[in-house]
Amino acid sequence: MTSFEIIEESENNIVVKLKGVPLQYANALRRICLSGIPTFAIDDVVIIENTSVLADEGVSHRLAMLPLKTDLARFVEPSACDCHSDLGCSRCRVLMMLDSGNSDTTRTITSQDLSSEDEVVKPVNPSVPIVALAPGQKLKVEAYARLGRGSEHAKWNSATVAVLTQGNNADEHILAIETVGSLTAGQVVKNAVEELEKRLDEFQQTIAALS
Ligand SMILES: [Zn+2]
Repeated sequence: MTSFEIIEESENNIVVKLKGVPLQYANALRRICLSGIPTFAIDDVVIIENTSVLADEGVSHRLAMLPLKTDLARFVEPSACDCHSDLGCSRCRVLMMLDSGNSDTTRTITSQDLSSEDEVVKPVNPSVPIVALAPGQKLKVEAYARLGRGSEHAKWNSATVAVLTQGNNADEHILAIETVGSLTAGQVVKNAVEELEKRLDEFQQTIAALS
């Protein structure tokens, strides 16, 4: 008998007991939890003004690494979107703006200064430092966030930790997931089960087409 039992669950952590599934299935599920579920990350940055000490590339990199709250119900990955546009549309990208303005004191620009056009898709943590600005220095950027997968770039990783251990019985595996908060740990596992089913179906069809 196959069963999934949630042993522990909080916003960013989940521990699931998998019973009666092969080790290969459990490990495939672990890998999909880690880098196979789409999350939002900043993918294109237009630097309008940057007089900070950090080079444009440095600013872009820091923005790209910010974990963003992800809503999979309203958005699709650019490759699956009907718009077929490099810029994207309201279904496959979210525009974020950052404008430091002027100041005569030293300050740190943080993820909180990034304003998103979407009410859900925004930085998970508002206090991540992006760059320190000296008096008179300015930073103004336009950033485009898109859905992507960690298998392409680590900025899109759906979980930070995914560990599989043996359960008390021979047919039990324990899967522990920790996320950065783009999705809840529960959402990651649920989506990973669906993703694995989809991949197995596609694999079966490929095999069937060969024979
Ligand atoms: Zn689109």
